[in-house]
Formats: sequence, structure tokens, C-alpha cells
Amino acid sequence: MSLNLPLDIESVKGFLEPDEGEALHRYAVKASQLAPCLEIGSYCGKSTVYLATACQANRSVLYALDHHRGSEEHQPGEEYHDPDLYDADVGVVDSFREFRKTISAANLQDTVIPIVATSSVASRHWVTPLGMVFIDGGHSLESALEDYRSWAAHLVKNGILAIHDIFPDPSQGGQAPYEIWKLALASGLFKELEKVNTLGFLQRI
Ligand code: MG
Repeated sequence: MSLNLPLDIESVKGFLEPDEGEALHRYAVKASQLAPCLEIGSYCGKSTVYLATACQANRSVLYALDHHRGSEEHQPGEEYHDPDLYDADVGVVDSFREFRKTISAANLQDTVIPIVATSSVASRHWVTPLGMVFIDGGHSLESALEDYRSWAAHLVKNGILAIHDIFPDPSQGGQAPYEIWKLALASGLFKELEKVNTLGFLQRI
């Protein structure tokens, strides 16, 4: 591996495999020359580091969107709940503190613009064209559809749409990300580039 990251990426909590992170970085190097990039579902900042390191090299920016209250599977009692990220005083998941630690440890404050909001609120008045959109938010069909409909339309020509957790075989994982992948392909607006592990890449035609 030749990719040099500004911190030990294994120390960052998250669900992104190294080959997926490296692919995100590789596409963001080109995409961030077209326009700023945006990710949905930053969690503790693992994918953010891969994407923003590429954006930083081009003096572009990464909008990092997450309400930081955890997806369905992060809630107490659910499979991916992490007690370290639970704010017991308020009784909610809070991944924003950990996210900020990651960004500052990686010296990416000059590149990452956190947006702490839901996808629907953040997108309501959005007008900035985007070079890359990485969808890794909530995995309910409703959330995935909302993310796709809210953000894919802002991609510039040749921009990259990346979707995480694509499992064509339902026994391997939830189907919502795969559903929006198929929807994007069926729209005729995208061409398929490649899949790296469970991460799919499409290009806006
Ligand atoms: Mg994911």
C-alpha cells in the first residue's frame, strides 16, 4: 500500500475496509478537481480521512454530513451500538466529539466542513455542484432513498457517486444500498465504474 494517511487509520472507529478507503481516496483525487466533495454518514471520521486527504491535496473541501445521533443499528441494544459513543447524560448517541478528534488528529480542519443535520434538512436549499457524493448513511430503504434523491442530482458531469454496503445477495446484508445502486443505474444518468468489496462507484454521464 502506497497511500500515506496523516494518522493511524486503524485507530479510527468505523466500518470501512482498507481497500474501500483507498478506492475512495483514489476517486476523490480526481473528483475534487471538478468540484467539492460530500459524504453522507461520517460517523467517527474514517471515510472522512480518506476523502479529505485527497481534497486537501487539491485545496478543495469535503462536506461531511451526519446528524451524529447514530443510525438505526447504532442505537442502544442494537448490533453496532458502541457504549463509548453514548452520551448517558442526555440519553443519545453522539459521534460528533469522536469525529472532531479524528479530524484534528489528521490535520484536516482546513478541508472538512462538518454539517450536523439530517440529509433532508441539509439538502433543502443546497445549490453547490459536487464532484463526488459518497452515500454511507442510514440503511433503511427510506434513508437510503432520501440520500440518493437529495444529493445525486448535484453531481457535475463526470462526477462520482459512491455507495457503501452493497450486498447483491440478501443473506449477506441489508438491501437498501443495493436498491439505490440499481435505481441510479436504471436512471440512465450514470455508468458503472467498479465495485471494491462492498463499495460501488458510478460516474455521472
Ligand atoms: Mg457503511
